[in-house]
Formats: sequence, structure tokens, C-alpha cells
Amino acid sequence: MDAGSGLNANVLVLNRLYMAIRVISARRAFSMLLGDAAEVISVDDGKYTNYDFDSWVELSQYRDNFTPDYDWVRTVRMHIAVPKIIRLLGYDRLPAQTVKLNRRNIYARDHSHCQYCGKKYPTSELTLDHIVPRAQGGKSSWTNLVCACVSCNSKKGGRTPSEAGMKLLRKPVQPRRNPVINLRLGLDKYASWQNFLDNAYWSVELK
Ligand SMILES: [Zn+2]
Repeated sequence: MDAGSGLNANVLVLNRLYMAIRVISARRAFSMLLGDAAEVISVDDGKYTNYDFDSWVELSQYRDNFTPDYDWVRTVRMHIAVPKIIRLLGYDRLPAQTVKLNRRNIYARDHSHCQYCGKKYPTSELTLDHIVPRAQGGKSSWTNLVCACVSCNSKKGGRTPSEAGMKLLRKPVQPRRNPVINLRLGLDKYASWQNFLDNAYWSVELK
């Protein structure tokens, strides 16, 4: 068990109306729980249970209550399970309805794969490519921006893919939901988040 990595686990934040609004680190989640700004939502077989921080700490004393995919943090006296979902107690604001167009979300939509050669790169080695170059009137939009590796981007230069004799792997689209959350949903560990995402029309903004 490693307290450090536990504190960096992801926690889905719901507003008071049980709508997902963002993802934060466990470190931040614990500080909100300690300040009574939030409660823990635990999902078991599709049923939700709400816990205030004290009862969550108490529950954490019985490891058998938890599936093995939980992260843990250790204090001097005890171990506390890292909640997967928390709910804000005083937050009525509705989530943003469109996914923010930014570098992080485009990389996440394209799963960090260059959309020309198809290879996966660390984000530090990726660039944003305007499919139709700005010089030719191309806009900065979900359908005109893709992830490209440095080499494909420089090969393409200030040309359209067809001018450069290159082909896009797929037509880029505007995601309906925050793509960073979609990536996490691929992990069994965060499967319980699905309960709050299935019927949603929203998207979230990551802080
Ligand atoms: Zn490439």
C-alpha cells in the first residue's frame, strides 16, 4: 500500500443533483470531505449509499467491505479507502453542456495516437494539426483539429492531407462527453462512474 499513489487516484465529483461535474484527485476529495463540503457515494450492485466522512472512515476499518480495486491511504492510526465518487452538498450549478475544445481534450479524444501514422506517443511528443491549415481558412474546431506526431505534422506542413498525400485515420468528431472521462471508464476500477454517466446529456470540465 502506498499512501502517495492512493492520494492521486481519480474521484468523480457529482453535484447535489447527482450529476457528474468533474474528476479530481483523491487528495482534493479528502479535503472536501474533511470540510463537510461533500459526502461519499458508494455504488454496490447499482445501489447507492451515502456516507458522511466519519461513517466512511468507520466503514474503512473493515477491509472486507471493499472490493480489491479500491485504493487506500494510511494515516497514523488507520487506513481509509479512497472513495471513487463524492457528491457535493452545496453545489447546484449545472455542468457545462459542451466539451471544452482544448489540447488535453483533443489528445484524449484521439487517445494520444497520431491521426496520420496511427502510432501512440507521450503527450510531450504530440502536436495539434489543423487538417485544413489556418492559412487556407481552416478553423480551430473539433472537426478540424487532430493529434499528430511531430514528424507527420512537419511532413504535412502547411498543406491539406490530400495536398500532402496523407490520409487521416478517421474523421474527427466533437465528443458528446468529456473524452478524459471516457478514458478512465475503460478501467474496471472506475466502472461505478457509469451509473452517473449513462443517461447524461452533459459533459464535464476538468480542473
Ligand atoms: Zn505520425
